[in-house]
Amino acid sequence: NFRTNRLPHIWCPGCGHGILMHSIARAIEDLNLDKDNICIVSGIGCSSRASGYFDYNTIHTTHGRALTFATGVKLANPNLHVIVITGDGDATAIGGNHLIHSCRRNIDITTIVFNNNIYGMTGGQYSPTTPTDDKATTAPYGNIDKPFDICELSAAAGATFVARASAYHVNQMLSYTKKAIMHNGFSVVEAVSSCPTYYGRKNKKGSAVDLIKLIKENSIVTNDTNKAKETDKMPIGIFKDVTLPEYTNEYKKLVEKF
Ligand code: SF4
Repeated sequence: NFRTNRLPHIWCPGCGHGILMHSIARAIEDLNLDKDNICIVSGIGCSSRASGYFDYNTIHTTHGRALTFATGVKLANPNLHVIVITGDGDATAIGGNHLIHSCRRNIDITTIVFNNNIYGMTGGQYSPTTPTDDKATTAPYGNIDKPFDICELSAAAGATFVARASAYHVNQMLSYTKKAIMHNGFSVVEAVSSCPTYYGRKNKKGSAVDLIKLIKENSIVTNDTNKAKETDKMPIGIFKDVTLPEYTNEYKKLVEKF
């Protein structure tokens, strides 16, 4: 599933993104999907490099705009499995507007958000998911903003499948990605990742392995977000899975009327 004739990837040693990308490739392989029926779309950032390494139809687009390109691809060919790979900055800052409207429309696109809590590729600036008080290149004394919860944001905006896994929770990542790809509607999988180079170093969190251990220690596998709040841990699970009219089907019905 990977382009072996390409140069090696540019992710730093210990970055969680490779684990997440592998899960996506395994999900596609397990589902036995035709490569010609897949289109991976990405924006800009460390996460978005993934599109260049897959041996599928891929489009590497502009910062924050992956969902707009993906919407065009899906409307032009509704039979394609369109998968967006994006990051926390790409999806919830520059592309935040596009994310909420894609959720609202319930268009059949799978969006995997690699959330490493920081802008990695551009030098470690804080993002909309950087925890309060954590440090970043642009927050040397600590971040005073409150972070977005990507799953709560997506569910509230209308996404019909919402889940969270991580670079530690590999089995869940594989399972949720498969479910998201087969879901007929807008699906979001927040894939919590680790950035040892910027987030780890700026916050003195230790090695790449220590960061993965932190994800394990700070999370709980449960679909019940209220239960997770009692433990003050990040829930790993499926938080929304409902069936509602899908955008390209509704669009087709409208066009057929005229
Ligand atoms: Fe991964 Fe961070 Fe390096 Fe980007 S900067 S490749 S997120 S470790």
